[in-house]
Amino acid sequence: MNGKYTIIGALLCITALALLPGATCADDDILFQVSTIDALLQGVFDGFYSFDDLMTHGDFGIGTFDSLEGEMVALDGDYYQVKADGVAYAVQGNTTTPFSTVTYFQADQTIAIENAGNFSQLSNQIDQKLPSKNIFYAIRIDGTFPYVKTRSVPRQEKPYPRLADATKNQSVFEFSNVTGTVVGIWAPEFSKGLNVAGYHLHFITADRKAGGHILDLKVDKAEAKVDITPGFAMELPTTGSFYNVDLTQDLQSEIKKIEN
Ligand code: ZN
Repeated sequence: MNGKYTIIGALLCITALALLPGATCADDDILFQVSTIDALLQGVFDGFYSFDDLMTHGDFGIGTFDSLEGEMVALDGDYYQVKADGVAYAVQGNTTTPFSTVTYFQADQTIAIENAGNFSQLSNQIDQKLPSKNIFYAIRIDGTFPYVKTRSVPRQEKPYPRLADATKNQSVFEFSNVTGTVVGIWAPEFSKGLNVAGYHLHFITADRKAGGHILDLKVDKAEAKVDITPGFAMELPTTGSFYNVDLTQDLQSEIKKIEN
């Protein structure tokens, strides 16, 4: 399914480039998002968008699963589900997501990282090199990391708790000298409410067997690849509790709780 659409998309793109002077294949630079972070924060965990469909919008990204069952990492077109047992499973296309963000990754910029002792030092180093604070980025860092701390969350039962309460039962995993890939999104401050403003990073090991949502990490020396992503598209649920959830509040303090 995914492959078929990717090939059709690529053929359309090549045709456009051949026929239209100055044409670009803009689809590659669209951040495609399912639902909103503020809905997820308030326990809107019902999956409604299938991974078969999500895979037609990107080969790279992060998210979660129906009933909040684990952390999603998409890398090089392969989608993984890191469950609360810490194991990365291949995602079944007929399963659904309540919140995800994906794109087709093509690096526009490379940022050298050196001696980042924790998440915020890494953030600062990348911050200084990003060309603008007013656009979305996909960020990929391949390497061997001295330390990575991740989490995953077990499947939640209805009535669903708020995300900050669900993460109280999170599983935490610590990796030392681990080779793998950081898969992340940087979203501008003005998009808070829709997505996590700033850095939202997930991790998958090189053997694709483990990973999760990154809580902390150290980077000795690596290159962060940045995909400048000016396009933004969002699909909202038309079923379940989304219609009635209150999305008028500022929930930034709850985001901070779940990130640490
Ligand atoms: Zn996450």
